[in-house]
Amino acid sequence: MIKKIAILSAAVFTALALYACAPGEHTSDFFAMDTYMSVKTYGVDAAETVKGEAERLESLFSVTDDVSEIGILNANGRVEASDETIELIERALYISGMTDGALDITVYPAVRAWGFTTGEYAVPSPEKIEELRSLIDCTKVTVDGNTVSVPDGYMVDLGAVAKGYLGDRVRDILKNAGITSAIADLGGSIVTVGGKPDGSPWRVAIRDPNGDGSVGVIEVKDKCVVTSGGYERYFTDENGVKRWHIIDPATAEPADAGLLSATVVGEDGVLCDGLSTALFVMGAEKAEAMWRKEGGFEMILVTKTGDVLVTDGIIDSFSLSEGSPYELKVIG
Ligand code: AMP
Ligand code: MG
Repeated sequence: MIKKIAILSAAVFTALALYACAPGEHTSDFFAMDTYMSVKTYGVDAAETVKGEAERLESLFSVTDDVSEIGILNANGRVEASDETIELIERALYISGMTDGALDITVYPAVRAWGFTTGEYAVPSPEKIEELRSLIDCTKVTVDGNTVSVPDGYMVDLGAVAKGYLGDRVRDILKNAGITSAIADLGGSIVTVGGKPDGSPWRVAIRDPNGDGSVGVIEVKDKCVVTSGGYERYFTDENGVKRWHIIDPATAEPADAGLLSATVVGEDGVLCDGLSTALFVMGAEKAEAMWRKEGGFEMILVTKTGDVLVTDGIIDSFSLSEGSPYELKVIG
């Protein structure tokens, strides 16, 4: 009887904690996975749960944490991983195949050598670049049951897909908590549940890679909007060239395919995140060819030459910022 009362009061307490502020707006900002995140929900305050989920995934995937599953893999060349890590690795390998190797989770030696993990930025010597190139090839990652292994010197980095995975998890958590209206910005990976409480779509600004403003706004409901951009983490080398954290696996150098940012809009967070990184590496022409061949996603590409290329599936939901110096072009 006492046990029953205890369980009942725990349930009532949890319900009160979750619904105390209904039907109001709850917003929260926090730092996780090495980036700023924010969550806005209506009815139920889920910020702590989202933050907890980000921290839980960080403890599995972080490259800088020696005891994360990826940390152990990179130190030992082998790890017994959780089902979630296996799932994310396998999905990233699939997207790598789909993008002709533009997404490659074995870029970590290069990411590290360029200083993007430590903040000690440096252009590696030509000899070092050559060595780094020989260490990038995700077809060498083997998954056998829950055992992942890589050859000597190889290292894995799930940074290009982890925030998309978090987005998918967050969407499920929010929906399971009965939330029908929410938006979370998980460091460039935005996930929406439903639309705004009044039924209108969420308005997501696409940042101007050349400034503080935005190039435009995309209206979405129940979608992920994930952007990869050179402006996120970069340094300027001695020749005045911006060197950013997205690496072209073919060269082991920062990708330079004519884009300043690549945004992918779709339903699946991991796919959107993996593709946004890959499209940035591929450039507009290859990105367009892949969009035609594969489908299942929409994109917004900001080019170095001042164009904003938007696929026709979302063109009616996209508006260029007023007075924008960019030219809007439709891919269709
Ligand atoms: P994102 O912000 O999703 O584009 O991911 C960028 C992060 O993914 C970088 O900070 C690196 O850790 C990693 N990364 C960089 N280039 C690549 C690449 N070509 N394929 C896979 N991961 C990459
Ligand atoms: Mg990505």
